[in-house]
Amino acid sequence: MPELPEVETIKRELEQVVVGKKIIDVIVNNPKVIREPKQEDFVKGLRNATIKNILRKGKLLILELSCGKSLAIHLKMTGQLVYPGNGKTSRISFKLSDGKLLDFNDRRLFAELRLIDDWRNLKFIQSLGPEPFEISAKNFKEMLARKKTKIKPLLMDQTFISGVGNLYAAEALFRAKINPMRPASTLNDKEKDLLFKEIKDTLSEAIRYKGSSVDQYVQLTGKPGDYVKYHKAYDREGKPCLVCATAIKRISLGGRGTYFCPKCQK
Ligand SMILES: [Zn+2]
Repeated sequence: MPELPEVETIKRELEQVVVGKKIIDVIVNNPKVIREPKQEDFVKGLRNATIKNILRKGKLLILELSCGKSLAIHLKMTGQLVYPGNGKTSRISFKLSDGKLLDFNDRRLFAELRLIDDWRNLKFIQSLGPEPFEISAKNFKEMLARKKTKIKPLLMDQTFISGVGNLYAAEALFRAKINPMRPASTLNDKEKDLLFKEIKDTLSEAIRYKGSSVDQYVQLTGKPGDYVKYHKAYDREGKPCLVCATAIKRISLGGRGTYFCPKCQK
């Protein structure tokens, strides 16, 4: 699933090519991804609206429109935005004032598109925890205190901290040498500081390489992101740890495949 670096990459690319353009028409090939309002009102509400501003909140993309409404897009597992699109595989295509298409693709149809009056009122937004870049190390340490939850599922909990998912939680924990099964409250101050730094460094590096193309994620241009080749733990089961050469292990934790070095990560 696209996480903070992937959605941030798409946001930055959208800012460059669609802001200021008008949505001339909306072609709906599969209405299942439209969560609200009903299809007819979704299309009517978007037609002739100019895209004013692009925001990202956690893994949610928000296109603010000249009509005062916003289009909120959660890519979920396999959502893609591609520009210029060809309209052939899209679930929805937005025809823009430059004559080109902004395609929304979603192989598995889990994505959620909403045309709403105020994105701030979305339940998802109101329950969203802070992003790693919005808090200090001191805040992070206070947030972890008394949390008995295992550290990896806690990092993936969007109400606790937003933007980090399965992939970047695994990478940050590897870099901080912390076992993903540790209860959060057992981390000492030094470990918490290091983990906080590694979360931010991992996300920043991934943004620089335009994200990780695992599953279906692509950049707005349709090209994959380059960060996969820098992964140290994620999807490396059986491969040698880059620090100690022990085979990277995969376990299921909180229902998610979890990769770690059983020797380095204590
Ligand atoms: Zn190791």
